[in-house]
Amino acid sequence: MIPVIRPFLGEEEALAAAETVRSGWVAQGPRVKEFEGAFAESVQAQHGVALSNCTTALHLSLHLLGIGPGDEVIVPSLSFIATANAVRYVGATPVFADVEPLTANLTAATVEAVITPRTAAVLAVHQCGLPFDVDTLDALCAKHKLALVQDAACAAGSTYKGRPATAGASIAAWSFHPRKVLTTGEGGMLTTDNEEWAARARRLREHGMSVSAADRHSTGRVVLETYDEVGFNYRMTDLQAAVGLVQLRKLPEVIARRRELADRYHKLFTEVDVDDLRAVTDPDYGTTNYQTFWVELPESYGGSLVDALSGLAARGISARRGLMASHNEPAYADAPAELPVTERLTQRLVALPLFHQMTEDEQDTVVHALTEVLREGRR
Ligand SMILES: *Cc1c(COP(=O)(O)O)cnc(C)c1O
Repeated sequence: MIPVIRPFLGEEEALAAAETVRSGWVAQGPRVKEFEGAFAESVQAQHGVALSNCTTALHLSLHLLGIGPGDEVIVPSLSFIATANAVRYVGATPVFADVEPLTANLTAATVEAVITPRTAAVLAVHQCGLPFDVDTLDALCAKHKLALVQDAACAAGSTYKGRPATAGASIAAWSFHPRKVLTTGEGGMLTTDNEEWAARARRLREHGMSVSAADRHSTGRVVLETYDEVGFNYRMTDLQAAVGLVQLRKLPEVIARRRELADRYHKLFTEVDVDDLRAVTDPDYGTTNYQTFWVELPESYGGSLVDALSGLAARGISARRGLMASHNEPAYADAPAELPVTERLTQRLVALPLFHQMTEDEQDTVVHALTEVLREGRR
């Protein structure tokens, strides 16, 4: 089977993890600090706070903003379910907004349509690494005095108007799960330009401790920490951060390769005889890292998403549903929403294999299989 994604990990990562083991300090410590600094710099943020994953980063972001019961937070339904779940963790109500068909992202118009007097924040996603139009959403949020949290889980290496996609964001949350382009096994980061939020997030991730365990260790003096508010255990380990530092150095090369493979997919699709096959591409205001390379099943294809995925699987291609729709899941049965574009895209987007080590032969096999599946299912 050709997998949909394969993490790009090598000897360097293995050595970095081994060195950390040998150092004797494996929990949150010097490597985490170094990774936070390097990652924040790479996305042009003032501060980085490394966390256990992106879901905890989203939760902490909303917690820092003081969002809670009675507040509504606008989110896309067309996203991994963690986006909506984070709103529930703080006791607030997720309100689903529809997306724009070309980018699968929220827009100022789809968000404005669901703003109410209870709306406190917008949690917008750079979906599959494709940036949303940050300036227009920023302007809308400023007009309605709403916080804007950026779910950048998939967006490492994506750009908006020539800068990293979240540059200038008040708060953004990142994922380093192996399904993303930069991985630490599990891991996440909160980035912000707000010094107070960063300092508080650092305490909150470590049970609300006034002085971190690593800092108490390195002072060599007796320090009794205090716990001034209820915190969490949302820490990243030095083992993960050591791997992350290597992955971060490789990121430009990884993005270049993903974009090269995506361009080749685009070119191959123009050469095959399939009507209206639409594939994800850069928006006019930025660039995607192609964290997920999706195609939309054309009108001419009469089968279902499962038919298409099964047809590809039978030909040795491990493809996936492009994006889930959270409001269709039983967990959100109490949050009905009318989202025609979301409904269509969740049923028609297929994520195709794309990974650093992918060969041209493998890519040709995918295109050939997809062409066959679409031809067989032509209405
Ligand atoms: C993957 C993903 C998350 C969750 O990331 P974890 O690090 O696995 O918690 C959240 N939001 C989006 C949009 C994602 O794609």
